[in-house]
Amino acid sequence: MNTKELDEKYIAGTYNRFDAVFTDGKGSVLTDADGKQYIDFGSGIAVAGLGYANAEWLAAVTAQAARLPHASNLFYTEPSAELAKMLCERTGMSKVFFCNSGTEANECAIKVARKYAVESGKTAKPEIITLQGSFHGRTLAALTATGQDSLHPTCFAPYVDGFKYAKPNDFNSFCKVVNDNTAAVMIEVVQGEGGVNALDKAYLIRLAEFCKKEGILLIADEVQCGNGRTGTLYAYEQYYVSPDVVTTAKGLGNGLPIGAVLLGDKVKDVLKKGDHGSTFGANPVACAGACAVLKQIDKKLLDGVKLRNKIITDKLEGAEGVKSVSGLGLMLGIQCDDAKGKADECLKRGLVVLTAHDKIRLLPALNIDIELLNKGLDILKEVLK
Ligand SMILES: *Cc1c(COP(=O)(O)O)cnc(C)c1O
Repeated sequence: MNTKELDEKYIAGTYNRFDAVFTDGKGSVLTDADGKQYIDFGSGIAVAGLGYANAEWLAAVTAQAARLPHASNLFYTEPSAELAKMLCERTGMSKVFFCNSGTEANECAIKVARKYAVESGKTAKPEIITLQGSFHGRTLAALTATGQDSLHPTCFAPYVDGFKYAKPNDFNSFCKVVNDNTAAVMIEVVQGEGGVNALDKAYLIRLAEFCKKEGILLIADEVQCGNGRTGTLYAYEQYYVSPDVVTTAKGLGNGLPIGAVLLGDKVKDVLKKGDHGSTFGANPVACAGACAVLKQIDKKLLDGVKLRNKIITDKLEGAEGVKSVSGLGLMLGIQCDDAKGKADECLKRGLVVLTAHDKIRLLPALNIDIELLNKGLDILKEVLK
């Protein structure tokens, strides 16, 4: 049996896979089992932000794997301490909890918000408000937090208590669900899975001001839009708000699983010994790789994100078949007819793009070669016609 047949026979059928078996990746080029090459505009869903097998990342990861691949959180290790310091220094946050994925980071954030609300005497029944169209992960609390009814079928009930939903960019809708039990509001600055929509600036600023005044925590889920993806290290920086908790994952690892919860001053000591944990969390190999990632997210790289955003939007805005272009930086949604059909056609022609609802979703590597970017855009334009 070939890989596709083995996969279909032995792997649980949870994914609607594209018709390609990838075997190799270098920079922004993927190779499949037949040796065909593809320009990659997906980065494995915003994961390989510096491209596949990025040299500094690879050197850090292989060196750490050879020295000490795991130690358990019962002991101190260098890479996690170094990474936590870098994350705090670059964001102004105070402490970090490490886990292995976006959904786990959000679970931790939810626990922090609940404990903070209870211990500060705000409420004994904490509620968290999230936005419609959001995506926060697949474990039960993060899934309940996810504001999409289509992801809440009755077969997985009962869901987790303590979540309410508001319409994005509609402060009145938020006012209808906020109450004395509201412990936190969790938002994605740019909703990814929900259709690549950036929140309105005025809305998020107003929401953040209200939360601060009422003692409600602001949690920014930067799992997808973080780590340089939108042209700043974290997307909230462009909105001039200061979240109390930031969750991130995907692009931080550049291919290895890692999640991080950044805790602001208010909540930095909420989690005490025994409150939370993770066997693989703070894995030295993943953390060494993430240190190499963070070091490369500098002004030059971020300016490059803005430049590439301009190249893409200049080419696609108003192009034949393009109804609109949404998003920020290199997290872009292209509204068009039959996005999935068009993504399949791109793949046939050697270009990997993703979809989000009725849009084609572009998440190229932050450092994608400009010539390659233009070549991919020419294919995309041809398919969109
Ligand atoms: C992908 C994603 C998650 C879930 O991350 P996993 O690593 O798949 O658990 C959570 N929030 C957002 C915004 C995401 O894009």
